[in-house]
Amino acid sequence: MIKFDAVKASGKAFLDVFYPDYCQICHQPLVLNEHHICFPCAYDLPFINHDPGSKKALQQLFWGRVDIDHVYSLLNYQKGNATQKLLHQIKYKGKKKLGRYLGGMLGEQLTNAEFDLIIPVPLHPKRERERGFNQSHIIAKGIANKCSLPINDQCLLRKQYSKSQTKFSRFDRWGNVSRIFWINQSTLITGKKILLVDDVVTTGATLEAAAHQLLNVEGVKISIATIAARI
Ligand SMILES: [Zn+2]
Repeated sequence: MIKFDAVKASGKAFLDVFYPDYCQICHQPLVLNEHHICFPCAYDLPFINHDPGSKKALQQLFWGRVDIDHVYSLLNYQKGNATQKLLHQIKYKGKKKLGRYLGGMLGEQLTNAEFDLIIPVPLHPKRERERGFNQSHIIAKGIANKCSLPINDQCLLRKQYSKSQTKFSRFDRWGNVSRIFWINQSTLITGKKILLVDDVVTTGATLEAAAHQLLNVEGVKISIATIAARI
């Protein structure tokens, strides 16, 4: 076994020399002990926890909209910033390992919190077929791994859009968004403390709609965790 691991390790070292991994932000080759993101880029990431103003804004994001116990998010999201690049790599370049890695970083903030289960926000079925995966589920796996929590992707389901969202006014769009989720097998989540997971929160309309549906189930409590938040 030791011999096999040694061969595997030297094989990896060999591969690293010829096919090094690249930083998902600056695209420079990674060096020893760097994973997905180089140290200088990681140092510059806009961690929400490092900024008291952002931390406060995050907790207030759903005030007056829907009853959320706690909101956790790793990085501040702005157009063109490093966070947007990372999310782009996960969603559109299929970098699932990066998604799990960032999910794991988020999970480290949650190890003291008590939840019964994680529910990833589902994609439209058509979009999931096109993409081949749901990025929220990948991130949820990273969190689940750190926090030893089960993932439930059976109870919150998403309908397919029948019309383009852009045709609706702001008011109608909320009406449209609020009807896109439905609950299946509600007894499985009755009375549970649920961590609802998505990749990013921008307007919050999608998470708000999903949370509303889940809160219709008796005794459910919701917290939200995302890799990024636009605050
Ligand atoms: Zn870098």
